Amino acid sequence: MEKQTDVVIVGAGGGGAILGLALAQKNIDTLVLEQALGPPTGIRGEILQPNGQKILDELGILEQLPCDAVRPVQFFHFRQIGGGRLCTIDYDLLPPPYNRALVTRPHLAHQIVLQALEQRRPNSLWYGASFRKLLRKDQQVVGVEAEVEGRSVKIAAKLVIGADGPFSKVREALAIPTQLHRYPESYVVSILDCPDDLEETQYCIGRQTILGLFPVAQKKVYVVYMVPSNSMAAVKTAGLSALREKWTTIYPELHRTFETLIDWNQTAYMPTGRARAATWVRDGALILGDAAHGMNPHASQGRMQAMVDAMVLAEHIPTWLEQGDYSAATLRVFEACRRPHVEMLQRLADEEAFFWNTGNPIVAYLRNRVFSTLDRNRRLRYNVLAATAGLRDSPPFGWLDRLQAVGFLPDPYANDLPAGAVPVVS
Ligand SMILES: Cc1cc2nc3c(=O)[nH]c(=O)nc-3n(C[C@H](O)[C@H](O)[C@H](O)COP(=O)(O)OP(=O)(O)OC[C@H]3O[C@@H](n4cnc5c(N)ncnc54)[C@H](O)[C@@H]3O)c2cc1C
Repeated sequence: MEKQTDVVIVGAGGGGAILGLALAQKNIDTLVLEQALGPPTGIRGEILQPNGQKILDELGILEQLPCDAVRPVQFFHFRQIGGGRLCTIDYDLLPPPYNRALVTRPHLAHQIVLQALEQRRPNSLWYGASFRKLLRKDQQVVGVEAEVEGRSVKIAAKLVIGADGPFSKVREALAIPTQLHRYPESYVVSILDCPDDLEETQYCIGRQTILGLFPVAQKKVYVVYMVPSNSMAAVKTAGLSALREKWTTIYPELHRTFETLIDWNQTAYMPTGRARAATWVRDGALILGDAAHGMNPHASQGRMQAMVDAMVLAEHIPTWLEQGDYSAATLRVFEACRRPHVEMLQRLADEEAFFWNTGNPIVAYLRNRVFSTLDRNRRLRYNVLAATAGLRDSPPFGWLDRLQAVGFLPDPYANDLPAGAVPVVS
């Protein structure tokens, strides 16, 4: 063995970096292996939901986010393309202090988490280190072999954690059966200068068309545009002017902003997928985040849930180390605690994908009716918001709620909010 540690985490993405930092703050000997050569760069919007803000606050990261690079957003407007406003979601319905979404410069919070980890525990984060295989003793996982700068390094660890994303190699090495689903829709994203300064999020929905516009700090806007999966070559062949024209037709108010899209380097293509791993634990090893439960981005919770996984694990790991017990039976407490919530969100995200992405006029009609009901019905609106904010474990709609949402039944409690919610004058 060339290196020994208590915990080895493969992947310094949304979940792995948070777990590395949380364990470093508890003085647990941890090594994080990241295949990339440095912190992430590139085009990517970062939307921190209330549950993610709370975690960053607990880790002391939230206060380090520079004010001029973070944009608090209170209102999300859903609009029908070619029609009017369907519904407005107001984050102020949620209890303070996390009663807003935060949109940051690309990767900002993530980069600060990585810096904090390196400061707290120097040399505990290895860039350019790719997982190759698991080390085993009988059935127990006892470490990993990684390729670091072209050299093979063996790392002995009491616990191995696969935080290596939806196509996890750790999960594969653990022989965990997994359903992987690629959605037929992907996204072209861009961050553009926004001279017209967009105050609030606009989410424009039509038939098989979605254009999301999220205000970012420093007069920028994060543009998210749905395209068929594997269609980027076709989108590029059609040309930038065709793309600009489409966006301008959908949201003419930002035509000056869309005109600043002049190079494909200002865009990125983001495919979407769902992962459902049959189990998240084996003797001596476990998986978290997208490796265990990737979900459709409509839930706006994939990264947040990877962070919640990390915080739950950071609570359990010290006890496991103290007891010297890393059996699957013991580690399963983590899966039992987290699986119901993430599966609820996966189902919710799939339902949203079915209705929001549809090209079917009847489904689109029902969807628009639901949005219109949500606009009037504070109780249902709160339920949906609380789920998106990561503050609700159960689905936002029961069967009765569904009938009320499409307007087939009246809702006598439409103005009621659950205990703990912030009452506002509507
Ligand atoms: C279009 C789109 C929009 C999204 N919007 C949101 C949103 O608004 N809110 C939200 O919460 N989530 C959102 N998500 C989801 C979010 O990006 C993921 O759920 C989140 O990144 C998962 O975190 P993770 O740590 O599990 O995996 P990742 O963040 O994917 O991290 C995995 C890490 O492992 C590393 N790695 C992989 N293989 C190896 C290896 N063999 N050796 C070493 N390192 C390795 C990778 O380089 C990477 O750094 C969105 C996703 C998409 C596609």
